[in-house]
Amino acid sequence: MRRFAGSCRFVFNKALALQMERFKLGEKRLGYVPLCRLLTMWRKDPQTPWLADAPTHALQQSLKDLARAYANFFSKRANLPRFKKKGQCDSFRYPDPKQVKHDQANSRIYLPKLGWLRYRKSRDILGTVKQVTVLFSNGKWLVSIQTEREVERTIPDGGAVGIDLGIARFATLSDGTFYAPLNSFKQHETALRRTQQSLTRKVKFSNNWEKAKARLQRIHARIHNARRDYLHKTTTTISQNHAMVCIEDLQVKNMSKSAAGTNEKPGRAVRTKSGLNKSILDQGWFEFRRQLEYKMAWKGGWLIAVPPQNTSRTCPCCGHVSANNRKTQARFMCVACGFKENADLVSAINILRAGHARCACEVSGAARPPAAGTRRSDLFRISAGNAAVGIPGIKQGGCQGGAVGEFTAA
Ligand SMILES: [Zn+2]
Repeated sequence: MRRFAGSCRFVFNKALALQMERFKLGEKRLGYVPLCRLLTMWRKDPQTPWLADAPTHALQQSLKDLARAYANFFSKRANLPRFKKKGQCDSFRYPDPKQVKHDQANSRIYLPKLGWLRYRKSRDILGTVKQVTVLFSNGKWLVSIQTEREVERTIPDGGAVGIDLGIARFATLSDGTFYAPLNSFKQHETALRRTQQSLTRKVKFSNNWEKAKARLQRIHARIHNARRDYLHKTTTTISQNHAMVCIEDLQVKNMSKSAAGTNEKPGRAVRTKSGLNKSILDQGWFEFRRQLEYKMAWKGGWLIAVPPQNTSRTCPCCGHVSANNRKTQARFMCVACGFKENADLVSAINILRAGHARCACEVSGAARPPAAGTRRSDLFRISAGNAAVGIPGIKQGGCQGGAVGEFTAA
């Protein structure tokens, strides 16, 4: 499997180098089909005989990935494609479900040129298999099976809720409930630092260096898993109990921008900001929003992103807007009417109100859809939104789900 992943990486890099060469010479970029023709030649090349051992379809898929990377670049969704490096997202993909057989009862899967492989099943495979990806992640080989099936669109349960994301409380709901932060990174920070330090003291690529590196990767994996688990549990609960969820349209990238500044213009409060950045990134706000977005769409609910202006400074009781309303990070006290409440809860209530306003505007067609055009899944949200206000939505086809299993030592 490592060899196949390596062959795919080789093909990707070779094709990318070729495209760059052609760009320098002022020639046109090659499309997917001519590249596939070249691939046949590369497979026959006596200098790279091992290419012929790898599955053809998987190699072609890496050319497809390159074509997509260029398409993303030209539509300004991504930077220029870069060369792939060994050990970073080693994977290969089988696009043809006819070549794959799976035996769920015995937890095994047949993959071309690999034969029958046993795996540890994490969940049932529902629907028809579309494609299979094998990837190496944190010392384990995983198989991810993409499937397609028809799902009934359910009617969402529950009412509307506003959510404020914060550091002291991970998420505060406008009904008063809140989720404490997990801070998985903070928990492991010391262990992480120690392992990192011990890694730098070792001779690079020595046995002990490899061992220390594996230890470091395990810690990273644990942090990642804990965070993912927590986010999934939270977003599932929220999406199951609400038909409409309003959140702040935060630009996490801007918020966590480094405060260091330049030599001529050093930034203020660098240490504080860097600590805040660590916390923000540790919380996974962006991932929270991403998960909430698709889970709400699955349930037929509606996610609304509202602009974050003044949500923490407006009094929910009398509507007075003032920065003085929030003297400390945690407490809110209105200078006009004296209303007192937890600051995060106030934000959540204001977010819900802004969401309602936004929703009303959309029914009358006065405003563009929430954060239109900023996310790939806009189609989902718009169609879910139209359904929520009684406009026949854009038809959603089958819903794609997936299943992930982990290979066990065969
Ligand atoms: Zn007030």
